[in-house]
Amino acid sequence: MAELLLKNGRVLNPAAEIDGRFDILIRDGRVAVIAPGLEAAGTKAIDARGLLVVPGLIDVHLHLMTGLGAFGADPDVFGVGSGVTTVVDAGSTGHSLFPIFRRHIAEPARTRVLAYVNLSTLGSVAGPGYSTLEDPRLIDEAKIEAAVEKNRDMVVGIKVMATGAALGKAGLEPLRRARRLGDNLHLPLLVHIGESWSNTAEPPPVVNVLAYLKPGDIVTHMFTVHRGGLLDGNGRLWPQVGEARDSGVLFDVGHGLHNLNFDVARRVLDQGLKPDGVSTDGHRGNRAGPVYDLPTTMAKLLALGFSLNEVVTMATANAARLLGRADLGTIRVGDLADLSILRLEEREWQARDSQAGTLAARQALVPTMAIRGEAVYEPLAIERP
Ligand SMILES: [Zn+2]
Repeated sequence: MAELLLKNGRVLNPAAEIDGRFDILIRDGRVAVIAPGLEAAGTKAIDARGLLVVPGLIDVHLHLMTGLGAFGADPDVFGVGSGVTTVVDAGSTGHSLFPIFRRHIAEPARTRVLAYVNLSTLGSVAGPGYSTLEDPRLIDEAKIEAAVEKNRDMVVGIKVMATGAALGKAGLEPLRRARRLGDNLHLPLLVHIGESWSNTAEPPPVVNVLAYLKPGDIVTHMFTVHRGGLLDGNGRLWPQVGEARDSGVLFDVGHGLHNLNFDVARRVLDQGLKPDGVSTDGHRGNRAGPVYDLPTTMAKLLALGFSLNEVVTMATANAARLLGRADLGTIRVGDLADLSILRLEEREWQARDSQAGTLAARQALVPTMAIRGEAVYEPLAIERP
């Protein structure tokens, strides 16, 4: 019987409203006991004194088709290599490449990998500057439905690029088709807003995009400074954004190389719209900055004024809800161990956004361990700010 005792950590599990000093005994890869003052005699122990123990962190937007184009990152780099136990690919593949993604990327990974299927058969095979939705033949509902039914355990929704570049002459017709597909499959849409890759293409106004969304759908890149974002020309949220939020549409950060702007974030937050999910939009091109990893992105939200509890909630309980995965985002006796261990450092550093804007931060979050079942992973060594 393999046992592992996590001693003296500050267990912060917002889903169960727990925040305190507890020990966690893991037996045969499952959480066996959560209680203070457990004895370690004869048991392998990890001293988590001074560390935060949280439900396995969930990064809900990444690009994980390893080696594909300029984006495809290894899931374990942003996953267990960053103290994160679940990573979600945001539509790297359409239906045709999904079996390859599953077999060669998701299944061998040490991190749990979930995925959105791209509405376009091309997925991210072509760069984001190409139109992947203009030709109506590039959307094949029957094949998407078949791919989803075969991979229900992994698929969490349909990814739609709502940019002028991707939509091309098709206008909003792909959104209409995505809507119908989502309804048929009972899956949410993940919609990318913000024209970050083209100076010439005109994005649809976000108001027109929101008209196609329903409760549970997700808008990613909520703090983008690019055309097609949530603010009107006067820095006000379009009224329809608040209406969408009130109806149950969800909003995700999607940091990325282009789409976290601190000025936009402040304006959006000042007008009362908060993120449901926090995500890196991590890929090969932003790992070395400005994104680094999910804990660093979470620390940027701390610098924007959120509490530790709020930020951990976004990356655990809220992320699980956004993915429709009630089995994730909490710590429960009897479940497979799925934990992230972080160090909250009280120190001053300069947080940078995607446009090199800076924000004085007073707390940093550094991954120190990820635990899945019986496996314990140390993070990869990288230079963080
Ligand atoms: Zn992305």
